[in-house]
Amino acid sequence: MPTYKAPIRDNLFLLNDVFRIDQHADIPGYSEMTPDIIEATLAEAAKLSEQVLTPLNRIGDEEGCHRHDDGSVTTPKGFKEAFKMFTEGGWMGMSAPAEFGGQELPAVLSGIVSEFLASSNLAFMMFSVLTQGASSALLDHASTEQKKLYLPNMVSGKWTGTMNLTEAHSGTDLGILRTKAKPQSDGSYKISGTKIFISAGEHDMSENIIHLVLARIEGAPAGVHGISLFVVPKFIPNADGSLSGNNNVSCGSIEHKMGIHGNCTCVMNFDDATGWLVGEANHGLNAMFTMMNHARLSVGILGVGLSEVAYQNAAAYAKDRLQGRSLSGVKFPDKIADPIIVHPDVRRSLMSIRAVTEAGRALVVWTGLRHDIALRSQDAKAREAAEDHMGLITPIIKAFNSDFGFENAVMAQQVYGGHGYIADNGMEQFVRDARISQIYEGANGIQALDLASRKLSMNGGRAVKALFSEVDVYLKTQPDQDGMAVYIKPVREALSRLQQATIWIAKHSAENHDEIGAASYDYLRLFGLTAYGYMWCRMVEAARRARPAANGDMAQFLDAKLTTARFFVQRILPETAALLTRIEAGAASMMELPVEAF
Ligand SMILES: Cc1cc2nc3c(=O)[nH]c(=O)nc-3n(C[C@H](O)[C@H](O)[C@H](O)COP(=O)(O)OP(=O)(O)OC[C@H]3O[C@@H](n4cnc5c(N)ncnc54)[C@H](O)[C@@H]3O)c2cc1C
Repeated sequence: MPTYKAPIRDNLFLLNDVFRIDQHADIPGYSEMTPDIIEATLAEAAKLSEQVLTPLNRIGDEEGCHRHDDGSVTTPKGFKEAFKMFTEGGWMGMSAPAEFGGQELPAVLSGIVSEFLASSNLAFMMFSVLTQGASSALLDHASTEQKKLYLPNMVSGKWTGTMNLTEAHSGTDLGILRTKAKPQSDGSYKISGTKIFISAGEHDMSENIIHLVLARIEGAPAGVHGISLFVVPKFIPNADGSLSGNNNVSCGSIEHKMGIHGNCTCVMNFDDATGWLVGEANHGLNAMFTMMNHARLSVGILGVGLSEVAYQNAAAYAKDRLQGRSLSGVKFPDKIADPIIVHPDVRRSLMSIRAVTEAGRALVVWTGLRHDIALRSQDAKAREAAEDHMGLITPIIKAFNSDFGFENAVMAQQVYGGHGYIADNGMEQFVRDARISQIYEGANGIQALDLASRKLSMNGGRAVKALFSEVDVYLKTQPDQDGMAVYIKPVREALSRLQQATIWIAKHSAENHDEIGAASYDYLRLFGLTAYGYMWCRMVEAARRARPAANGDMAQFLDAKLTTARFFVQRILPETAALLTRIEAGAASMMELPVEAF
């Protein structure tokens, strides 16, 4: 059975030493976030993750969810009780506004808690992510009455939320969705249609389920400009929050799937169900984007969480498993063989996982800080810059972190050899669970296209220019000597390749639109690797600053940061050269074969 220890120290290092949250007291809420509060919050979240959710992960995988003849769905043994603990602990509303019962803690902190949840039990975490995402969409787009009716119970976790976009024929292309909304004389709508793949669509953990549904109002224009967002509760609430009758919403079936068995993926039928418009008619996709962006960041975080737990178990196994002797001479003569951690190839896997996990975590924390600025800052210019950053970096965090999440889970499984393939050891569950993150919330190929086609050119390229300039200025201000050059030089080269690729795409996609699609996946990876390189420079700078005063465990921790950074820039970052070569090869060989040749 896998074990898990929440990486509190790594996160504190990022908050306190790398991103210096003490220097951000101007962000409302930050001055109250004292070191004591941060540590106590993370310690409580760690306890819940390690002691309650980790032991349930395997049970959730083995038992899965069950749909009964009456359409009800039960979650695996222990999930309901754990959810009660989770909501009573106030975790659901951790970052929600106090006005609706939330704790209003900064997003940067809830991002870290999400990492712990993802490491310990991804299927469980998804119940809260969907609810928090639905709440944020209501917060941004719902009427005052709707907020008053739904948010207090969603923030407390008494009611959960869902996101209903996908239909059997309409996944990536939401413009062709068919679910209908018929206006009623009382201002409500009758919603009819079938949605598929709805996470947490029906279950037994909350008193009510609030579905956010995309549908087309009768007579609305075709395409994405004719889609509206509706709130469709499972049980219709009265004004005082008590529940009246059953709405015509039912779960037709649940999917049998590769992983995340503890989370029910439902076919949801809306048969003249009563719903209410959220925001403006025909602007539903825009409103739903609030929820999707929240979910996309969470998916990026779960890539880090799964990498971390897979790494911890693989590292422990590598120190324990005895096979063969070290190439450079026997290391443990008193044992029948050396532990496999002495073998360079096993080290390659472990170092690769930790180098990208730590950089991915830094990217999440850095972006969490910007998220708080975007949400809370009084300074309009700072808010605009932070929103630009969020828009640009969201597809990178979603796709790049989740690609690494899966690659890391596979590498960690490989460290176990054949034992990694055996269910009892839990590593194959990480592989199966990680895989979905590359697909849902917009498949990673679509994230890459979003980055290369939409995000680069937004506001005349303001976001990308600001980011390139920030990294460029940072690298220029770092000393070339004193051992810093070994980190700075490769990141400078990666940045220059990324800039070259950006110019290449802009030039060639104007001549042939397929060029952008052909380049986008490699471009997102090149962008992600460069961003990770920047994160490593920031971590190196902080580690070097703290090192002289450190001793014992802390000194070892900081030294490990420097070594891991060196591994990243020397053995992972060079991939950026190959990516640039691939991008500049263009679309021709990809697009040349006629369809019949496939
Ligand atoms: C376990 C699970 C949980 C889910 N949870 C939810 C949920 O809670 N709510 C919800 O609404 N949906 C949910 N989904 C649906 C998920 O978001 C979609 O499966 C996903 O967006 C892809 O849509 P699709 O499956 O129809 O694939 P398609 O859209 O058919 O895409 C197939 C492939 O073609 C590529 N592709 C498609 N169009 C383009 C294009 N224009 N350019 C380049 N490549 C393209 C895609 O990248 C993909 O690789 C879930 C799915 C699963 C499996």
